[in-house]
Amino acid sequence: MNYSDFSSLFKNIIELAKKIKDSKVKNAILELQNKTMDLIQENIDLKDQLSRKKDEDEFAKNIKLTDEGYYYKDETTPYCIRCWDADKKRIHLQKSGYGTWICPEEIFLKNK
Ligand SMILES: [Zn+2]
Repeated sequence: MNYSDFSSLFKNIIELAKKIKDSKVKNAILELQNKTMDLIQENIDLKDQLSRKKDEDEFAKNIKLTDEGYYYKDETTPYCIRCWDADKKRIHLQKSGYGTWICPEEIFLKNK
């Protein structure tokens, strides 16, 4: 059963429930509706987390550690080692001189 099958089944139940006079049944269906909304939200959150994890894994598999930073695939600007290792943030480094790089996060934190 996919989400749209489930959604139309659920809408049918809600429509049928409107015809029911018994308040206990109505309340049970309302509670079921609320719990279902919670589950739908949880499912969205989990899909989002999984997608971010897959994206992180793909990045981690394709980076190469150098003295300058992490290089992703054939990109020519390295990523900050500390930001990735500590916080899983992909921060491109900025040139701070010939062959030297600085993390923009570092500049941002200094100016805070
Ligand atoms: Zn950094």
